[in-house]
Amino acid sequence: NERTSKHFIEQAIDSDLAGGRFTSVQTRFPPEPNGYLHIGHAKSICLNFGLAQKHSGTCNLRFDDTNPSKEETEYVESIMEDVQWLGFQWDNLHYTSDYFDQLYDWAERLISEGKAYVCDLSPEDTRTYRGTVTEPGVNSPHRDRSPEENLDLFRRMKTGEFPDGSRTLRAKIDMAAPNLNLRDPVMYRIMRAHHHRTGDKWCIYPMYDWAHGQSDSIEGISFSVCTLEFEQHRPLYDWYCNALQIHHPRQIEFARLNITYTVLSKRKLLQLVQENHVTGWDDPRMPTISGLRRRGYTPEAIRNFATDVGVAKFNSTIDAVRLENAVREHLNRIASRRMVVFDPIKLTITNWPKGHVEMMQAVNNPEDETAGTREVPFSGSLLIGSDDFREEAPRKFFRLKKGGAVRLRGGYIVDCQDVVKDEAGNITEILCTYDPETKSGQDNSGRKVKGTIHWVSQAHCQEIDVRNYDRLFSTENPDQAKDGKSFLDNLNPDSLSTVSGFAEPAISGAQIGDRFQFERLGYYVVDPDTTAEKLIFNRIVPLRDSWGK
Ligand code: ATP
Ligand code: MG
Ligand code: MG
Repeated sequence: NERTSKHFIEQAIDSDLAGGRFTSVQTRFPPEPNGYLHIGHAKSICLNFGLAQKHSGTCNLRFDDTNPSKEETEYVESIMEDVQWLGFQWDNLHYTSDYFDQLYDWAERLISEGKAYVCDLSPEDTRTYRGTVTEPGVNSPHRDRSPEENLDLFRRMKTGEFPDGSRTLRAKIDMAAPNLNLRDPVMYRIMRAHHHRTGDKWCIYPMYDWAHGQSDSIEGISFSVCTLEFEQHRPLYDWYCNALQIHHPRQIEFARLNITYTVLSKRKLLQLVQENHVTGWDDPRMPTISGLRRRGYTPEAIRNFATDVGVAKFNSTIDAVRLENAVREHLNRIASRRMVVFDPIKLTITNWPKGHVEMMQAVNNPEDETAGTREVPFSGSLLIGSDDFREEAPRKFFRLKKGGAVRLRGGYIVDCQDVVKDEAGNITEILCTYDPETKSGQDNSGRKVKGTIHWVSQAHCQEIDVRNYDRLFSTENPDQAKDGKSFLDNLNPDSLSTVSGFAEPAISGAQIGDRFQFERLGYYVVDPDTTAEKLIFNRIVPLRDSWGK
């Protein structure tokens, strides 16, 4: 996973440090608190905090809260929790709304210098006058107001004299600029909306472009890393900094993360929550950080994934398997093994001494010696997964079949002698003999069998509930919905199924958030819905990728 060459952002930083444009690396992660963070944000967090760490710089968390109608304190709190859970700590915590006064003063300065004006065009007319990629824009009839008149109007906008949407403040740049963002962009709009932090103090709110770069500047950011869709905004970012002659950060764009079989847009994720397609922002099927956390993902797996996918200049879609492999790889190293049987069938050992129980030593994690061992009770009445048995099976079936032999993991080799059936002909019990010479770890019998299966002792096992989660969408690009359909039409109807499992007794005492490998099956985590009576597990990921198979 170790990258050997530096990506283009690291190269840009190196060159700016060497050339003296900046002397240190200050970055920020600037979420808008209008939803929970998702795996795409995780990539941006790892990138921004990672760059600062690497250069002994700083990284701020800044809430980009310029749009009061969509923002909530709940989101602010979840974002802070998620960043910390991912393993990062911001150097400074800021809110763009803390800069509203400074932004207002700077706006007055631009007005005084003839670089901004109050415009009375309606939102629709503003759009029409702006022109298109092929048509130059048309100057607003209010473009040539005097600085005095503009200042007066702007102050009256601020004090609430005019109705919502009736006027804007616009930068006076160039209505014929090939880049539409430079055609006198709106800096302020009138909007009477309660803000989660400033309350009703303001009835004018700054637009994103006007607030963002100036906030970067105030914080002394050197590298303002953002996603590709802001590339066309960079000339405006630079124009504002130049016009104000303030500290001028460098904006660098990278491709946003897309992943197959999911959507990464807060608007769509909000819709999934509001329309109850999922149980909440932290539903284990959600690509949100809180969803991944509840699903059992580790911060390390997410960070490794972010490093692994790297930083690119062109948009692409990453195969969901890569995220799943990242958590498999980490959990293989850290998760304790347990044996759990689903869809059980009884296996009776006919030559086992009646009532006898033998404690087997089982290694908790073959990848980690320090994880130690546990005892697993072995008896004459066991359960195995019915998948692991066939009355008649092809030669290549290496699990248990009538007349065949298999090793019971950590136990003995058993030979299947016969089966018991009910009146309908269904197998209700498998009758085996065990070979006392073949005890795991002290087997000198010289017997070799091809298969090893897991099992639990019927009298000792504990019943658990398991939620088997699958991909939330059944198509690779759920966003690409054709023929008047929406991404919702691509939801996977089978993304959740709940089953009972029978676990070896060492499972008892597992705490919420504990992760295990259920041998031969997959990785599982204890869900917060767990009660004193019943352990509830979420399947994090099966051992192998079996999607579509
Ligand atoms: P969404 O489209 O999901 O609403 P956004 O870009 O509007 O995302 P912000 O809260 O503004 O969400 O994002 C905060 C930071 O995270 C921004 O710098 C943004 O570029 C980055 N970011 C958001 N989505 C992704 C993604 N899919 N991949 C990488 N970075 C992302
Ligand atoms: Mg945004
Ligand atoms: Mg957005």
